[in-house]
Amino acid sequence: MRGEGAGQSAAEVPVLRPPLRAGPGGAARLRHILIDVLISLTSLQRTPLSATLSLVMSQCCKKIKDTVQNLASDHKDIHSSISRVGKAIDRNFDADLCGIVPAVVWESQEKQILVMAIIEHLYQQGMLGVAEELCQESIANVDVDFKKPFLELNSILEALHKQELEPALSWAIFHRQQLAELNSSLEFRLHRLHFIRLLASGPGKELEALSYARHFQPFAHLHQQEIQVMMGSLVYLRLGLRNSPYKHLLDDSHWTDICETFTRDACALLGLSVESPLSVSFAAGCVALPVLMNIKAVIEQRQCTGVWSHKDELPIEIELGMKCWYHSVFACPILRQQTTDSNPPIKLICGHVISRDALNKLINGGKLKCPYCPMEQNPADGKRLIF
Ligand SMILES: [Zn+2]
Repeated sequence: MRGEGAGQSAAEVPVLRPPLRAGPGGAARLRHILIDVLISLTSLQRTPLSATLSLVMSQCCKKIKDTVQNLASDHKDIHSSISRVGKAIDRNFDADLCGIVPAVVWESQEKQILVMAIIEHLYQQGMLGVAEELCQESIANVDVDFKKPFLELNSILEALHKQELEPALSWAIFHRQQLAELNSSLEFRLHRLHFIRLLASGPGKELEALSYARHFQPFAHLHQQEIQVMMGSLVYLRLGLRNSPYKHLLDDSHWTDICETFTRDACALLGLSVESPLSVSFAAGCVALPVLMNIKAVIEQRQCTGVWSHKDELPIEIELGMKCWYHSVFACPILRQQTTDSNPPIKLICGHVISRDALNKLINGGKLKCPYCPMEQNPADGKRLIF
């Protein structure tokens, strides 16, 4: 009777699982174990315990105690880390950030530009589904022609990441003329990678590699040295390229390089920026915002709120670094203002350059006297400069 009862109860003793770790499902598993133990204990209450069962039970209780303790200490660690993250966010993020952004940014037309920048960024990153969803939710008018180049580039890049050369090669051959005008070596590099891959396959591909080498013919004058290196490597084909002085040809970095070259040249050819306007603006904002917030605090402290009108210009110049240099700007030496489309730089016949506003102010009796060399001239002779 006792043996029967003991056997029955032993079957109900929960199987001890590996120690619990804090994480998704940890609490649920613990609850299941505790329920199992509770059920077993309830049934055991009615049955006298054998010595073995008592031992199993005491081990079981000890394991539960340890597990609960582990869970509690893990939870404590996580909790203290999370509470530190919260404090770090509070310390580093300024809730007053919106104050330095003019309200006009959120108005319909400006907002549309922002939405388009986000959509372009998503297309550029290959997140097509998210971009489509945003187009629908924001009712943005996105032309089919707008997304076409991104879709094409993304599919080719995806293939390149998988070390498939075919789509990129077809694209480069199709755009050969335009790529040559950009001094791009993309097509040569793709043929080179294909050739290296044949070399890496061993002596069996020797004839195929030799026959493929004819693709280098149009590039012979531009890439003579690289072609010589590849031809030289053929000597070591039987020994294995990996053990030859040409082992650098098998370097994985060639694949990273080709992805970068393809992105750069294809974007240049299609008139797209290599980096999305959104990420460039974000990077610029990270540099400029802290400076602007300091300026705003100073302006408010000195109560001279009229200094910063928010109208398309910042209260001070902020250095963003060489990475953000895209084109030259011209500041009028007379009015000390940056020239704009409505107030462009004008080159006088003596060669000095001033802004149109300055020129208009200097006209006296239909004549203009250059403020640098006092040459008198007809204001209409000045020519607009485009930077
Ligand atoms: Zn002059």
